[in-house]
Amino acid sequence: MIEFKNVSKVYPNGTAGLKNVNFKINKGDFVVIVGLSGAGKSTLLRSINRLHEITEGEIIIGDKSITAARGKALLRARRDIGMIFQNFNLVKRSSVIRNVLSGRVGYHSTIRTIFGLFPKRDVELALDALDRVNIKEKAYSRADELSGGQQQRVSIARALAQEAKVILADEPVASLDPLTTRQVMDDLRRINKELGITTVVNLHFIDLARDYATRIIGIRAGEIVFDGPVEEATDSV
Ligand code: ADP
Ligand code: ADP
Repeated sequence: MIEFKNVSKVYPNGTAGLKNVNFKINKGDFVVIVGLSGAGKSTLLRSINRLHEITEGEIIIGDKSITAARGKALLRARRDIGMIFQNFNLVKRSSVIRNVLSGRVGYHSTIRTIFGLFPKRDVELALDALDRVNIKEKAYSRADELSGGQQQRVSIARALAQEAKVILADEPVASLDPLTTRQVMDDLRRINKELGITTVVNLHFIDLARDYATRIIGIRAGEIVFDGPVEEATDSV
């Protein structure tokens, strides 16, 4: 589903973000990328949907190279990828439902979405998505009235409304308390199981990774230092 072939990324200032990274993630996997701060987790995740360009190598999603994609092909590829960030990336003053509907933007002409004119089916999809993460009753609240955990569930719902085939979550629980952390990780794992959405989550705690991952990829200084089943991952990953 996601393949890295000899991928390297050097930032303009000369910092090596990724060094010759190779792996293959299968459809339906729940992969956790583990590494300390600065190890290259964000760099890796951001390379997948081309939030930035890699310096060398190729990234394949499904059966297509995203590295070579241009124009409409790139937009279509990105539509399949839902992103979840540490800081939720919601439009704070907007309603929850509008935030979730923003996941539908790529399916319509720009003019329609500027005016917030979404078809009824989209609204139903958005409400279903909110229902799946148990916050449908917050649909018409303002996003910034919600707790951190609830806001992160809204961003998961946005990825679901987007009908993403892949979810990439960059430190999704780093700003949440321990209980909420579990709830958000539970939601991500449940959705992965129920809908078969391939999920890649960046975490800096190996313990949390162990409880949720089907597979762990360890990264250190831009290099893969472990790739395998959870049982084989040691604390030094
Ligand atoms: P993380 O939680 O991944 O460690 P950081 O706080 O390192 O995040 O990075 C926050 C932002 O700053 C990101 O957009 C990242 O690309 C950028 N950044 C991180 N390190 C550097 C650096 N050495 N030089 C320039 N920008 C950086
Ligand atoms: P992680 O997500 O594991 O914390 P990052 O991918 O953010 O790690 O960072 C990997 C390395 O790349 C670090 O050395 C970081 O300082 C550097 N880096 C990240 N973003 C930038 C940037 N925009 N410019 C320069 N260096 C960066």
